[in-house]
Amino acid sequence: AASAAPLLRVQGLAKHFGAFRALDGVSFDVMPGEVLGLVGPNGSGKTTCINVITGLYRPDGGSILYQGRPVGGMAAHRLVHQGINRSFQIPKPFKTLTVRQNVEVARTYGQHGGGANADTGIGELLRFLDLEPHADRYAGELTSAQQKMLDLARALATRPKLLCVDELGAGLNPAELDLVAGRLRELARSGIALLVVEHLMDFVDQVTDRLIVLSAGKNLFEGTLSQAVQDPRVVEVFLGA
Ligand code: ADP
Repeated sequence: AASAAPLLRVQGLAKHFGAFRALDGVSFDVMPGEVLGLVGPNGSGKTTCINVITGLYRPDGGSILYQGRPVGGMAAHRLVHQGINRSFQIPKPFKTLTVRQNVEVARTYGQHGGGANADTGIGELLRFLDLEPHADRYAGELTSAQQKMLDLARALATRPKLLCVDELGAGLNPAELDLVAGRLRELARSGIALLVVEHLMDFVDQVTDRLIVLSAGKNLFEGTLSQAVQDPRVVEVFLGA
């Protein structure tokens, strides 16, 4: 079979903070509709990688190709318009806006040119993420799990083709984890590619197709979770730290 072109191609990505190399030559591809896990011990560069890909930080080296075009260093809002968005480890909704208003603001932000009906699909999105019963509550009144769902809704409202998800699982109970895992799989089936940073290995197992393991800002391993747990280098960075 002919192999499809990657949606995202990261090559030799570098990000330095002073003399410290948080990313020191990270490379991977994300295929359309793929769920790629990005794992590794604390401080290995996972969040930094998302921050650079989504335009929060400028890269100090390497390249980021999205749909075959270089996007490294592009501003976050332009990347959102191109179809790259993310959810945050610690969501920061507009607390004095309602849940629905938060998603509407995100939808507007994601639109270029304007004019289209900003309401399209928002009710559906709220239902999809179990937020409909809370649609008219202020975001500040939500539980932290609900705020995570809202953050996901806000990212999805911009209609991403690549969604980076940073530690969505942390702080969720088992039922919430199951729900979120199922929703992420549904998004992938609908054709959205996901880059998932996550510590919870059961969740990684449920959600991802393939893994990249980072260690000290470099690629350590690429493959499935069942291959990863049999790789002595992977076991060492997780257990030997
Ligand atoms: P991970 O997500 O894998 O836990 P991070 O990407 O958050 O790791 O961080 C990688 C390293 O880069 C850590 O040592 C962290 O302290 C450092 N780092 C991340 N962001 C910054 C920043 N804005 N300024 C200075 N150091 C940072």
